[in-house]
Amino acid sequence: MTTSVDNITALLSALRMSPVNFDNLYANQNNLTPLQSVEIFLREQQRIRIDKQNALRRKRANLPAEKKLKSFDFGFQRSVPKEQMLRLCDMTWVEQAYNICFLGPPGVGKTHLALALAVEALDKGYIVAFETLDNLIKLLKTTEVSTISKRRISYLKKSAFVVIDEVGFMPLTSAEANLFFGFVSSMDERVSIIITSNKGFDEWADFLGDATITTAILDRLIHHCEIINMTGKSYRLEHRQSIT
Ligand code: ADP
Ligand code: MG
Repeated sequence: MTTSVDNITALLSALRMSPVNFDNLYANQNNLTPLQSVEIFLREQQRIRIDKQNALRRKRANLPAEKKLKSFDFGFQRSVPKEQMLRLCDMTWVEQAYNICFLGPPGVGKTHLALALAVEALDKGYIVAFETLDNLIKLLKTTEVSTISKRRISYLKKSAFVVIDEVGFMPLTSAEANLFFGFVSSMDERVSIIITSNKGFDEWADFLGDATITTAILDRLIHHCEIINMTGKSYRLEHRQSIT
């Protein structure tokens, strides 16, 4: 039987397998039995596939930035104990379908901590997704007419948790508040939600526009929820750099 790298490359492509650098793969591996060489080859295929899936999961998460817990200055932000965040990194809250709400004024690190938990979860193999509330509403409004929106919403629904950022920045119409309620209800008990909001719960009716829908949303959200009230100065303002 004549064999060549070209033949094998064509077979790999026909079988939808990844190209492999055989010189590197079998470097310093002398006297392999046929079965051993097959095993090495298949393990390499498995490694490549897992790497691809991980890269795709990260891309689909749609994080606006890769924030780490390591780079968070708990000395500056004293209203959140580091131990609490480390405990949340074990992801038992995800397994129990708990939600997390980071509440506080702008710049105190709400989005940073939400992103850091998302990065931890991605590293642990969870499917996670990030959306601002503004964009989530846009998606929900267009599921009927846009396959992209429909697919994105299905992805959010099969995630372990979804980060909904910037809740309370913009007032919602009553139709939008209803869509938001529908979304939160559809996640109930299955998919966890991390909310970041610059508004305390007592102010939610102001931007959701309707006391009944606000109660309904908060009722679902807070039922199993870790509420993290953040106070203090804006890290942005304290650490702003001037151009000069
Ligand atoms: P918020 O969402 O509360 O408005 P962000 O999380 O977006 O605030 O924080 C604003 C910026 O400051 C981000 O770049 C974030 O990484 C950084 N930041 C905020 N708090 C801290 C902190 N305690 N340590 C390190 N960086 C911080
Ligand atoms: Mg933010």
